[in-house]
Amino acid sequence: MTHTSLFEQAPKPDSNRPLLGSHVSMSGKEMMLGSVKEALSYDANTFMLYTGAPQNTRRKALDELRIQEAWDLMRQNNMQQFIVHAPYIINLANTLKAETYQLAVDFLAQELERTQKMGSKILILHPGSHVGAGTEAGIQSIADGLNEVLSIDSPVFVALETMAGKGSEIGKTFEELAAIYEKCKYPERLRVCFDTCHVHDSGYDIIHDLDGVLDKFDRILGKSQIAVFHINDSKNERGAAKDRHADIGDGCIGFDPLYRLVHHPDYPGIPKILETPWYPDPQTPGKTLPPYKKEIAWLKTGN
Ligand code: FE
Ligand code: FE
Ligand code: ZN
Repeated sequence: MTHTSLFEQAPKPDSNRPLLGSHVSMSGKEMMLGSVKEALSYDANTFMLYTGAPQNTRRKALDELRIQEAWDLMRQNNMQQFIVHAPYIINLANTLKAETYQLAVDFLAQELERTQKMGSKILILHPGSHVGAGTEAGIQSIADGLNEVLSIDSPVFVALETMAGKGSEIGKTFEELAAIYEKCKYPERLRVCFDTCHVHDSGYDIIHDLDGVLDKFDRILGKSQIAVFHINDSKNERGAAKDRHADIGDGCIGFDPLYRLVHHPDYPGIPKILETPWYPDPQTPGKTLPPYKKEIAWLKTGN
């Protein structure tokens, strides 16, 4: 075999490949090392994890997370970054129960530190739910909470997630997120996580007018503020305010807008993370399987 044919068989340089991964678990003995292995099993080049169960605040000590081994494996595989998601129970917008707000502030401060020690620069946060006190009071409370935990030189950015608007969720419009930025002492420490299911559920038409929606985002918050995309299909029609994720191509958004977003020329280096539901294993009743390997391949190539 000549050198030429060997060269032709070598994989093509990968600079056009999108940063594409999924939510992965962090549990058991392997912890973050297991998260990296799981991401690699999906052919992902980035990933997102929760530092423990998303519904509670029980967390393992940092020295049990196997961070060094995880990073060694990431480097061997050319993975340069990952994302952390704060648990859902953090609700900075609760002005009715002082202890809920205080738990949120304290836990958010710990999550920021954990995120930094684990080697990530992005912590995704659901802005919160005002639980009846009204959007304005909720927004002020979120900003107050962020002002307690962020400083001018915070090494980790808080990425506020765009929300579907179920219940009294704040962050269902780009304007609401901008209002949090405006009340925040260090808005340069904030970013946004743009979730396709949530944006669709809250009423934006990413099916027929993806670029119009992105332009609107750009006018209100600035497109440079998007630090992460969550790529999910939705079980509901636009504007349903439900927040139920569907597998890619299996929901009301469909494959095409999601594919276009993944390959959008304005966001080449921005991680795209799948949070699509596991599906029932046809072989084993009661067991579910992750769709991520299949979906990453599909979103990468379009077929
Ligand atoms: Fe989220
Ligand atoms: Fe999300
Ligand atoms: Zn969601």
